[in-house]
Amino acid sequence: MENLSWIQKHDEIFFKNSFSKEDIVYLLSLEGQEEIEFLRQRAYDIATKESGEKVSLRGIIEFSNICSRNCCYCGIRKDAKSVKRYLLSREEIIEIAQKAAVSGYGSVVLQSGERNDEEFIKYVIDVVKGIKDRTKSEKLPEGLGITLSVGEQTEKTYKKFYDAGAHRYLLRIETSDKKFFSKIHPPDQKYDNRLNCLRMLKKIGYQVGTGVMIGIPGQTIDQLASDVLFFRDIDADMIGMGPYIVSQSSLMSSKGMMEKKSLLLLSLKMISATRVVLKDVNIASTTALEAISEDGREKGILFGANVVMPNLSPVDVKSDYLLYEGKPGMEEGSDEYNTDLIQRIRLSGREILFDDWGDSKHFKRRKCLNII
Ligand code: SAH
Repeated sequence: MENLSWIQKHDEIFFKNSFSKEDIVYLLSLEGQEEIEFLRQRAYDIATKESGEKVSLRGIIEFSNICSRNCCYCGIRKDAKSVKRYLLSREEIIEIAQKAAVSGYGSVVLQSGERNDEEFIKYVIDVVKGIKDRTKSEKLPEGLGITLSVGEQTEKTYKKFYDAGAHRYLLRIETSDKKFFSKIHPPDQKYDNRLNCLRMLKKIGYQVGTGVMIGIPGQTIDQLASDVLFFRDIDADMIGMGPYIVSQSSLMSSKGMMEKKSLLLLSLKMISATRVVLKDVNIASTTALEAISEDGREKGILFGANVVMPNLSPVDVKSDYLLYEGKPGMEEGSDEYNTDLIQRIRLSGREILFDDWGDSKHFKRRKCLNII
């Protein structure tokens, strides 16, 4: 009888089209193994139906750890003195992108610390143009798809990056709770500005990705449920979320982090809840999941994600882009093309989408509606 009542409740919630905050709190609070499996299966079914059977690849190139910001959670913030700073040359980045294109990657993400100076902006434009020019082929007539993730910029700069050939942009809101945002950022970083950046990106025509960190000290389930509604309300095309992991060189190091097992479970439930509520967006199974569990990225896929972002940064700089402790794949001679990760995703039951940009279905639908 008891069993029947939770199945009925699940049916009511899981198959809804419109979700309240309480519904999402309910999903994120599920604890029983059977109930979590029910959530996972629902999210997985929606993912394969709405965003395709195959998992998309984005090769991530962390091209510089030089940063002008001091985000309290981040290991490469400006004032972290022990960090060895680097900037890859334009040619180095283009070569990595060319190799990625030849090996079947349809797109890359260029990520770095945040800089707003003219020299940096010009450099990013040159890199984007260079990759576009030099990765065109029969399988990729317009070259690799390019996602940028270089923080808060002006509308003019975002437009220049777009005109150069970048067509997707990732900027996490980190938390959608304005008060909590101000606790984990220094006073010069404003929630409203970040929100405005997301709006500008959308207006320009980018596919826009955002996301949050999960399990930040002081964060509540209620806030995480609001984060999911925030993604829905700003009509995000892509979501990248991951567990918060402490970094010794961050300003929040003394606050510690959640115990890994519960952090993993909470992160996976966030992926599933986001999939169940938003349905046709791209959701990444992020590297941070693997930092807390060996098979974290496969699990992310099984819980409803449809994108993986193998790291293509050169081995000699990889360990200098340490946002948090325990980032995987740092060893010398580690699997340069991530064939192992790709193989593991396959073994978990999903095929990989090669030679394709892997654009967000949500974005395509959004565009169609605008035209009509
Ligand atoms: N400068 C870019 C890229 C930032 S790094 C930007 O501002 O968008 C990319 C992401 O790493 C951040 O958005 C943040 O969510 C995540 N990150 C930073 N520190 C982290 C930590 N300690 N644990 C988990 N994720 C972290």
